[in-house]
Amino acid sequence: MLSISLLSPPYATLSYAEPEWLDTSVWKCGQRVVVPLGKGGMLRAGIIVSITDDSSVKEGVVLKECLWAAEREPLLKPEYLAMVKQLALRHMVTEGEVLGGLLPAGLRTSKVRLRLLDGGKPRTVTMRDIATMPLAERFAIGDLWKKNAVEVLDSTFDAEEQELCSLLVDPPWAVRPSAKRQIEVLEYLQDKGMLSRTRLLKELGTGVSAALNTLAERGLVRIGPREEGECEACQEETSECFSDIGNGFDLLPEQQTAFDEFSALMHADKPKSALLYGITGSGKTVVYLELAAEALSKGHSVMLLAPEVALACKLEQAVRNRFPSQDCFFYNGYQSPAEREKTFRTLAEREAPCIIVGTRSALFLPSPALGLIVLDEEHDTSFKQDEGLVYQAKEVAFYRVQQSNGLLLLGSATPDVKTFYAVQQHAVSMSVMKERAGEGRLPDVSLINIKNLKRSDGILAAECKRQIQETVARGEQVVILLNRRGYSPLMYCLDCGHVARCPHCEVGLTYHKERERLVCHYCGHSVAYPVVCSKCKGLHYLPLGEGTEKLEEHLTDILPPETKILRLDRDSTRRPGKMQRILDSFAKQEAQVLVGTQMLSKGHHFPNVTLAVVADGDLGLNLPDYRAAERTFQLLVQASGRAGRGEKAGRVLIQTRDPEHYCWQFVGSADYDGFFAEELERRRKRKYPPFVKLALIRTSYPLDWNKGMEWVETLTEVARALGKEHDVRVLGHTPSPLPILRGRKRFQWTLKSDNWISVRTLYYAMRNAVPRGSKLRLSLDIDPVNML
Ligand code: ADP
Ligand code: ZN
Repeated sequence: MLSISLLSPPYATLSYAEPEWLDTSVWKCGQRVVVPLGKGGMLRAGIIVSITDDSSVKEGVVLKECLWAAEREPLLKPEYLAMVKQLALRHMVTEGEVLGGLLPAGLRTSKVRLRLLDGGKPRTVTMRDIATMPLAERFAIGDLWKKNAVEVLDSTFDAEEQELCSLLVDPPWAVRPSAKRQIEVLEYLQDKGMLSRTRLLKELGTGVSAALNTLAERGLVRIGPREEGECEACQEETSECFSDIGNGFDLLPEQQTAFDEFSALMHADKPKSALLYGITGSGKTVVYLELAAEALSKGHSVMLLAPEVALACKLEQAVRNRFPSQDCFFYNGYQSPAEREKTFRTLAEREAPCIIVGTRSALFLPSPALGLIVLDEEHDTSFKQDEGLVYQAKEVAFYRVQQSNGLLLLGSATPDVKTFYAVQQHAVSMSVMKERAGEGRLPDVSLINIKNLKRSDGILAAECKRQIQETVARGEQVVILLNRRGYSPLMYCLDCGHVARCPHCEVGLTYHKERERLVCHYCGHSVAYPVVCSKCKGLHYLPLGEGTEKLEEHLTDILPPETKILRLDRDSTRRPGKMQRILDSFAKQEAQVLVGTQMLSKGHHFPNVTLAVVADGDLGLNLPDYRAAERTFQLLVQASGRAGRGEKAGRVLIQTRDPEHYCWQFVGSADYDGFFAEELERRRKRKYPPFVKLALIRTSYPLDWNKGMEWVETLTEVARALGKEHDVRVLGHTPSPLPILRGRKRFQWTLKSDNWISVRTLYYAMRNAVPRGSKLRLSLDIDPVNML
């Protein structure tokens, strides 16, 4: 009997019989197979998670037969399956859900094709063909399989690769307003980035096909394969994501000490985790590379992970500089399904040690024994995935190094409070680097109180304007951070006071002037501007507040006309290669000012920047999240790290409406230790992590379902009753901070406990209280990083 976890809904693990048309020796744990499901003869892909003899099958039960194997040798090794099982238990989902969430698309499909080499002309059969053919024929193919005369063909994703659609022109586009379909396609590509034609037509309907062709003919959209030399990840010219790191530096004293400590840990024969706490620019990357060299020399593989693609790309470049002849695999969520599938398969078969570089999803690549996993910028919340398959990369990484007695190394200038606490508790070792490696010192930081700033003045205080003007006049560079894209976050009807909102999410729509549209930043819904007020039919909207687009406009007014200003945000970087071009152009000093969202605060290196302005330092502080101060501190210290990296001293100005807030005194001096002590005390008092285990249970139901509220109340009763019994504090239900999203009403419960088992018990009971097939969705988020 085969226990098979399905890789698509219902994601269950079901028992199947070994069919007679294939030899029993075919089946192996970790192997992909195709199975029938339900009465209609649907086919599904699955993974064999265990093989037992048939004695455990209950009498009278007739099992369906597994249809076919999708490969000869199993894709997944036993250790890999053990990790999947552990993740499933931890997050209370099925193994199928875990596998479905982490395997590349091509490995999850039942559309497997076989080529039969039976002497005659090779013939291709699909799984559907096999499912419907007479038994005798099936047996014949089973014989061929035994004789090695059947080849499993690659999945069909390669074909999609040949027709990738991407924008060639930034908005505003020269398209007639009546060409609705064309606008729809352009807006969609602007929102989602590069997509295959197949996916675009699937998501927008085949009706847009003609519009897409017209756009291609008119040169607004490109359809075709990736261009030669284009970096898979950031879609840049590969030669441009250049880094000087890895070109053979001698280690500085602090780097040497860190290296010695960590390499000793790496060689101890038990698994460990450690923190490299080094200020921005202290040269952490060089330490990672030397440790990687050490691991490789001992025959172990290495994984280097960064929180976002652009940073992963720089790491990859550094690795290629340092190890020109070593096999290096690059992997991230922006790559095409075909590319990801190829890397996954290659690594599944590989025995020799290698280096893997990527974003969090690379963590799930099969790999030869891992001696070292590095998570750079470990405090970054992107290491937690909270949509779809929920997981915390740090935990998975530790699980993986545990399997091979390796070292998990976390690096940051502003560590996660939880990590730092673990260091204090001696659960994690630490090495500190307090000096900048290259030239440059940490900048001076000043707070600018903007409580009394008038709306007519725009978002910048007079002092900031003056310093920006002076810096530009001296021929030096300025970066300005405003973590809000678009032109204005709020559209206010002058006639009746109504605010334009998204019909699916109820959040305010953001005005994007270049696109001449109002856009929902949560679900992507957009409408052409000007719009008629839905309440009074008036046409006079007043854009309130300031996003990056408006700030850019504002800056052109206060700076000399020849000043060049660049903007870096999601909207300005949608075209392939655009992001790198903006960063390069700024690094080459072709522009004096760079305005951007938090994309800007991470890792980039601009020696001539002497002034960094944070236009709205409070933005993060007001979020309904116990980590708001921590987030803000991290973002601002990272952003401050952008100034003063060269010979000239740097200054940082942070605008705030809340100058009394306790986090400022620490941001000013980048005093992480001071911040940590204060923050920890606050969390201890208020019972927040790391002093309790905190979980969020989220629920949602369709807006038009009138039973929803009743169910939420019932679940609260279930949770409260069990909470008392198991000593779990249950807060809620409360409406989620975004109470309506994508057409669903949302509520949540916050659970606090001293152990995870009680939390899981509660969730389990709540889930069981909901009837199968209910319109209510329920999910558990353990240690949430995003309370929205
Ligand atoms: P971090 O990641 O800690 O912010 P990086 O690893 O990006 O810092 O290094 C910052 C800069 O310091 C890089 O430009 C690098 O070239 C330089 N650097 C690092 N280590 C050394 C060294 N041992 N000798 C000289 N320069 C170094
Ligand atoms: Zn919306």
